[in-house]
Amino acid sequence: MAKAESYKSTCSYCGVGCGILAEKDTKGRITLQGDPDHPVNKGMLCSKGMNLHYVVEDKSDRLLHPQMRWGKSHPLEKVDWDTALERAAAVFSSIIEKHGPDSVAFYVSGQCLTEEYYLVNKLTKGYLKTNNVDTNSRLCMSSAVMGYIKTLGEDSVPIAYEDIELADCFLVAGANPAWCHPILWRRIEKHKEENPGVKIIVVDPRVTQSCSIADIHLQLNPGTDEVLYHALGRCLIEQGDINLEFISNHTDGFESYKELVMKTSLKEAAKICGVPEVDIKTTASLIGNANGFLSLWTMGLNQSADGVNKNLALIDLNLITGHIGKPGSGPFSLTGQPNAMGGREVGGMATLLACHRNLSLPKHREEVAKFWGVDEISETPGKTATQVFEGLEDGSIKALWVICTNPLVSMPDARKVEAALKKARFVVVQDISNKSETIPYADLVLPAAGWGEKEGTMTNSERRISHLSKFTKAPGEALPDAEILMRFAQKMGFSGFDFSNMEAVYSEYCQMTKGTNIDISGLNYDYLKNRGSVQWPFPSGAQGGTRRLFTDLQFHTPNGRAQIQISGPKNNYEKPSENFPLILTTGRVRDQWHTMTRTGKVNKLKKHLPSPFLEINPSDAAERGIADGSTVLVSGARGEVRVHAQLTEKIKKGVVFLPMHWGKILQNDFARANNLTGNAIDPISKQPDFKYSVAQVRLYKKP
Ligand code: SF4
Repeated sequence: MAKAESYKSTCSYCGVGCGILAEKDTKGRITLQGDPDHPVNKGMLCSKGMNLHYVVEDKSDRLLHPQMRWGKSHPLEKVDWDTALERAAAVFSSIIEKHGPDSVAFYVSGQCLTEEYYLVNKLTKGYLKTNNVDTNSRLCMSSAVMGYIKTLGEDSVPIAYEDIELADCFLVAGANPAWCHPILWRRIEKHKEENPGVKIIVVDPRVTQSCSIADIHLQLNPGTDEVLYHALGRCLIEQGDINLEFISNHTDGFESYKELVMKTSLKEAAKICGVPEVDIKTTASLIGNANGFLSLWTMGLNQSADGVNKNLALIDLNLITGHIGKPGSGPFSLTGQPNAMGGREVGGMATLLACHRNLSLPKHREEVAKFWGVDEISETPGKTATQVFEGLEDGSIKALWVICTNPLVSMPDARKVEAALKKARFVVVQDISNKSETIPYADLVLPAAGWGEKEGTMTNSERRISHLSKFTKAPGEALPDAEILMRFAQKMGFSGFDFSNMEAVYSEYCQMTKGTNIDISGLNYDYLKNRGSVQWPFPSGAQGGTRRLFTDLQFHTPNGRAQIQISGPKNNYEKPSENFPLILTTGRVRDQWHTMTRTGKVNKLKKHLPSPFLEINPSDAAERGIADGSTVLVSGARGEVRVHAQLTEKIKKGVVFLPMHWGKILQNDFARANNLTGNAIDPISKQPDFKYSVAQVRLYKKP
């Protein structure tokens, strides 16, 4: 008699990386539970993770067959895989021949598995001869990548989650982990419940759920984060709470930093930030007295035209206090997507090379070319996410292949993205769902297998690599993304893509890491399946992974010293004006994920916050005759949004908030927050700003 089968996997939503046990009964029904043996979540799951099986079971919205348009005005028609991929290969070859390799681009996702990320990078950088492969992780993590590189010498998250239970002071900056990284937050909550001396400071212009256990909430004015962290630096210096021994033996740049932070008085900084002076001082004292100090941050810092500067100013606090490389301490950038970290490892951005190699160094390009058996890697940096769409608009990019992301809703300035997609010569959309708003602009639509329907690996926020099992069949003709990429490469006539399975792809990647700081040459699928997840590095011969980095205080900079950084030039934010007097910030809600192509179809998840809304301070609302529940028109220089008003003291006067999830098809055109966001990007990381646009709000209809 057939028996129920049990499989290990990892949640495919956020970067916390919770372990999941999937059980399939004799009738093929799937139930999920948190993996009690997984070190990340120890059996716990949040609302999104708990409901993943509904997404797997409900195939009603799934893309089932390749579809192709024979001309721009023609409808999409079902075709077979050979026809679809031969057409893609013919169009890509002809465009590259006429206009050069940089006239094509791939735009992928932090939800891709490491093997998929590896293959798409090998394909574009190695074989198509262009670095035009970027990812929606550009929209969430690229400022943190540059922050780590500039201070620690490499994109290396130094901490382990177990540092949570060893820290006694948390600075949660520009993040709402209670909603966006719930299981990690549950660990922090539990730690504080068991140890009342633990202090939590939250920095956010809104009162979020994470503030509910905060000892101090620094409700700063949007865009003033850097001033605040420098003010904290000044207080730490004045209070004598810096670690002079660490600064002198292991860092450079302190004197310039001190000079910079001393220029702005505490009073001035408090006024700019809109927070009480006393709260800044108390925060500095809590950091100064901590045995273990963890700074945690995410989109509030990263999604900014000054994102890298904000990252540097925050990481500097760990460096001047010596809180790095030891238990319970470190600068900890939380990753948003489940495999944002894996993508960074394989060089899955237009500006990176595999295994933390540097695209601008000829030696590193040669190493990669030699490993892949190709002539060379182009030295021209690829186009980053927003640049790709600008390239489509100005005609320098003719063909775009989108994998596992929905740019029409998620990219800033959505109208510009729409115009760019309309202008493109050829667009491929590879996705699981027919609900992606980007599909109507595609010339070729390819059905992909989803979570549970394919195997591979992912890396979470603490560098932990987990294996994901395949436990159910993909519907229709849907194929794993890796399989689609390999078949396309073969149609292009490329020889390096004849892998027999995902294990072989991973094994090639593991060998490529040999000798680098992210060496995982000791790792393989057998280890991950039988002994569980592990943190990199894990070189050949090692007995296990590496929990914490920089314990020897040798940083990955040329001289081995961490670099305390002063910020680069200030970037210009849009300024509030008579027409647009309010500052709009955007973000997530607890139970939705990205553009809702998966969570939007789960009734249980829709119950939490069923429709889009605008958070507005009651005094701003009163000035405009707006009551709670009124329909309001939010307008900006680039577009409009029409949603219900939610009056709340939780948001500062002068600031309004829109959730990022709702798009065009699932609700209506007027709910898309990115109708209002702009084109400002950080000059170093090229990450777009989603946290600061100017807007006006008017009453549209009374409740
Ligand atoms: Fe999934 Fe993140 Fe929730 Fe864990 S915390 S179950 S990884 S969404």
